[in-house]
Amino acid sequence: MTAPTDLDVMRERAIDVLCDPSLAHVVDMVAYAEGDSIVVANSGGAASLSRSAPDQPADVRHGRNPVELQDPLAFTTLAEELADRSPPNERNSYPWAGERLASLFAAAAAPDIAIVHTGKHFWPAKGGHVGEHGSLNVVQSRAPLLLSGAAVSGRGMIPVAARVVDVAPTLAWLAGAPLATLGDMDGQALVDLLVPRPDGFVIGLLWDGCNSNSLYALAAAGELPNVARLLSRGCALTGGAIAEFPSVTLVNHTCALTGVGPGRHGIVNNAYFDRAIAAQRLTNDARTWHRWAEWLAPGVSTVFERVDGPSACVNEPADSGASYSTFRLIREAGNSGGAGDMDDLLPNPHEDAHTTKEYLSRKDYAWSSSVDAVGLQQMLDLWPSKSEAPKLTWWNTLLTDTGHHAGGPHSAVAHAAMRDADARLGVFLDHLDRMGALEATTFLLTSDHGSEGADTDCLGDWDEPLTEAGVQFRDEANGFLYLGC
Ligand SMILES: [Zn+2]
Repeated sequence: MTAPTDLDVMRERAIDVLCDPSLAHVVDMVAYAEGDSIVVANSGGAASLSRSAPDQPADVRHGRNPVELQDPLAFTTLAEELADRSPPNERNSYPWAGERLASLFAAAAAPDIAIVHTGKHFWPAKGGHVGEHGSLNVVQSRAPLLLSGAAVSGRGMIPVAARVVDVAPTLAWLAGAPLATLGDMDGQALVDLLVPRPDGFVIGLLWDGCNSNSLYALAAAGELPNVARLLSRGCALTGGAIAEFPSVTLVNHTCALTGVGPGRHGIVNNAYFDRAIAAQRLTNDARTWHRWAEWLAPGVSTVFERVDGPSACVNEPADSGASYSTFRLIREAGNSGGAGDMDDLLPNPHEDAHTTKEYLSRKDYAWSSSVDAVGLQQMLDLWPSKSEAPKLTWWNTLLTDTGHHAGGPHSAVAHAAMRDADARLGVFLDHLDRMGALEATTFLLTSDHGSEGADTDCLGDWDEPLTEAGVQFRDEANGFLYLGC
């Protein structure tokens, strides 16, 4: 038995504070690495999960296992989600909790303690929104996943779930990479639902931050006619694609395009502390997106690097190896502020035919609409004719996340953002149809994470009680604690 270090003592103190019932309304659980275990703990109990065999049942240390329920199909259908909004830990579900936490804590930049927010937690003072994601819980983690077109054998709504790390192997396999070359990825190609066509085109669509149940329900109700058009020629997974933890943007864009979790790609949050340089890494920001490849762990490949033939990557930071990339153009423009320095070049959203004008008074909605208008224009330019089309195309849509944050996933503004995205998709589908390319194309539509509505009365924070208890820490992205610094 080795003597506890100062850091061990500080961590115990921090865990005591965070698992106190007085913070249970905002702390769903904490997670931390301890030897070969990941420990999950909250005011109701604690359990250890094996880092080397994370799919094995947890060993309960006391009380109740905070990740007892792991059904990936929990709260599927919109009605079931709305009947129990932001449920407490005992009724919530944490799919693949062991695998996802083990991946995070394998990363060099993993925190000493990861705090999982409750679904209800509202933290506007630290940049939180009415609609949030980031948690380990199923609603914040669940992205939609829809497959459509030439290579899709599945039909209708299928009651299964996949993972965001499955997106890259699925796209690479569809675009011609042999399965045997993809075995090093954490994710797996969705072989049961697809039959790749060697002569076809493959398009990945990422609508950032869409609530999966909501997207499917709006498509069924006729509100998203172009998503419905895709679904009429394919299938959707009711359980969607479960994001890696934390269920935030740049972690999961990277997972979707590399097929590996944060433990291997190294981008552990939208902001995190890099002990190697003793400084913050701010990854998910308009001023830094173009620098994505600098943060990627060595030896990790993107889907573009695994596929032969021309490829295109539109409005997406995770772009290494793409024949065309928006962010390469931004890097080549040489502005240190990247996309954040290029507002003068963006079109006026008031003049964009696919923007819901009533939300343009919101700065974020206006900016995201401009960016997405440029996204559509790039897609049309990249596909001048069937003979000049990229084999693999990835098209990232930003506005959907903006709308979900602004009002929560079931708000009018979130729905408007999805309708705008759907209208832009429709323009592109019509374009493919006119050139005779639609029949030869396979689509994968997903998000990088889900979205859940906060309870605006559920306020609270841990920084003050931790400081009062003498814990020395830095808190990155509101929940990643690095101790002793
Ligand atoms: Zn996102």
